[in-house]
Amino acid sequence: MSNFLLEARGIDKSYGRIQVLKNVDISIAPGEAHVVIGPNGAGKTTLFKVLSGEVFPNNGSITFAGKDVTADPGWQRVRSGIGRTFQSARIFSELTPFENMVVAVEAHERVVKGKRPLFALRPTKAVRDTAAEILEDFALTKVAKAETKSLSHGDKKRLELAMAVAGRPQLLMLDEPTAGMAPGDRQKCVELIDRLLKKGGFSLLLTEHDMAVVFGLATRISVLNYGQVIASGTPEEIRSNARVREVYLGHD
Ligand code: ATP
Repeated sequence: MSNFLLEARGIDKSYGRIQVLKNVDISIAPGEAHVVIGPNGAGKTTLFKVLSGEVFPNNGSITFAGKDVTADPGWQRVRSGIGRTFQSARIFSELTPFENMVVAVEAHERVVKGKRPLFALRPTKAVRDTAAEILEDFALTKVAKAETKSLSHGDKKRLELAMAVAGRPQLLMLDEPTAGMAPGDRQKCVELIDRLLKKGGFSLLLTEHDMAVVFGLATRISVLNYGQVIASGTPEEIRSNARVREVYLGHD
C-alpha cells in the first residue's frame, strides 16, 4: 500500500469537447500542505471537483486512505474524510454563524455515529459547546449571533473554513481561501491555516493565486498549465523551475 493519503493517477476530465484535465497525477502525503497553482482556467477548480466527487473523471483513479474512491459520490467522500471549501463561501446566509456551526458539528456527530445527517430541532449541549469552541478558535465569537449575510467577506470565508474543520477531515481542500480578501484578512487567514496545520491531524490541499500565501503555507507545490501538471516539488524546486517561471511565476 502507498504511503500517500490521497493518490490520483491519470485523471482526464472533459466538458463536451473541451478537455480540461489531461492525464493529471497528484499525490498528497499525510500532514502535507500541497498547493496547486497555475494560470486562470488551468483546471484547478475542476481538479478539486474531481477529487471531492462533485464531478467524475473520464479516465483515471483516485485512492484515499488506501481505498479506491473514484466512483464514490461527494457525500461519501466527505464521510471518508475529505472536507472542502469553495471559491465563494457556501454557508447558510439566513442562519446565524452559531447556527451554521451547529449544523456542521451536528452533521459530523451524526455521521460518526453512523446516523443519517438529519438535524435535531434542539441540539444537545455538547453540540452547542463544540460549535461555540470552534467559533472561538476562528475568531468568530463576536459575530456568532449576527446575521450571517451581513458578515464581512473575510468572516464568511472563515466561517466556511470553521464548518469544514468541524467535519474533522483527514484531507482539507481549500479553493482559493483568501480570494477577494483585504490584505489584513488575508494575513489573518494564513495565520489561521498555519495554526491549524501546526495542530496537526490532517493534510491540506489548496489552490491560491497570491504567491505570498502559496510560499507561506506550502510544503509541496504542483503547477497546472492547460490541464497538465508541468511540475511538482518543494517550494524551492518550483521557484527555480525554468518552465514554471516561463508560464506562470515570471508574470508576477
Ligand atoms: P481560476 O483560477 O480562474 O479559478 P481554474 O484553474 O480553477 O481557473 P477551472 O475553473 O477548472 O480553472 O476551468 C478550466 C477550464 O474549464 C476553463 O477553460 C473553463 O472555462 C472550463 N470549464 C470549467 N467548468 C466547465 C463546465 N462546467 N463546462 C464547460 N467548461 C468548463
